[in-house]
Amino acid sequence: MHDKINTLLERMYRLKRVPQALLFYGKEGIGKKTKAFDLAKALLCLKGTFPACNTCPSCNRMNQFNQTPVEQLQVYSDKEAGKKVFLYLQGEHPDFIYLRPEKDEIKIDQVRGVRDFLNLKPALSNKKVVLIAPAESMNPYSQNALLKTLEEPPQDTHFILVANNLDNILSTVRSRCYLVEFRELSREDIKNITGIRDEEILELCEGSITKASELLHKTHIIKLAKLVLSGSALELYSASSQVEKMDYDDQKLFLEVLGTMLHKKLLQDKEKWEFYEPIIDRIAFVLDNLKRGVKLSLFLFCVNISLTEVKK
Ligand SMILES: [Zn+2]
Repeated sequence: MHDKINTLLERMYRLKRVPQALLFYGKEGIGKKTKAFDLAKALLCLKGTFPACNTCPSCNRMNQFNQTPVEQLQVYSDKEAGKKVFLYLQGEHPDFIYLRPEKDEIKIDQVRGVRDFLNLKPALSNKKVVLIAPAESMNPYSQNALLKTLEEPPQDTHFILVANNLDNILSTVRSRCYLVEFRELSREDIKNITGIRDEEILELCEGSITKASELLHKTHIIKLAKLVLSGSALELYSASSQVEKMDYDDQKLFLEVLGTMLHKKLLQDKEKWEFYEPIIDRIAFVLDNLKRGVKLSLFLFCVNISLTEVKK
């Protein structure tokens, strides 16, 4: 999996030419963050090997970090009585931080926290690594704050940004980074990694391991999407009210599955693309605005009615 990327990173590492800022990008759930952690671990490894040795004190701490649930990592410092101060996410490794969203966003205070961290000399390893994921959750203020550091990064410091959507990264930030594109995984890759054999799931997961595992446990979402596409009025009514009650993550997954199913229909029946395309666009729009509160049941009725038109 990702053999080309492995070769690239290994080569950079061997030649001691790992860029100070890297941006890993590609679809959600295809192993970008795992690879970013692997690289971070190797950069910090005291034996200086790629892949990391996995036995030195630095590697041990990185492994501990990986096993700690994110919720338990420190986000705030409460040194000042009664006042919480934003930190970054910090685990056991003194030279590594993992910046991730606090309530949907990576805030400017968190990025400022990184600058304080970088002012200190490495304590255990010879380098410092900052991993930011998902990088697009930095709002423009945070990105601009980061830019200042990226323009003149302290020596022996590496930034690894991980983004699912490159469009939401400021071009100024992008241009400071070495871009590494991660491609979708093949069906075979997903089969091998997850052990999933269900052809329908393999198709609907769109090359994402995360999505494949989610769908494996949430097959009801696939059923609901099918009902919306071709169910009777009564089935549609029941399906819509179930979708309405789901949490955000499940609704998002449901809409993605619905979009993928429609896209497949479009490919099978290309003559009717002018019917399918607006519906697919509409689903993408609803997905983008899901957090703002969309009346999904109403939307699903519209999808169903539009599809009845297609069949005529
Ligand atoms: Zn090591």
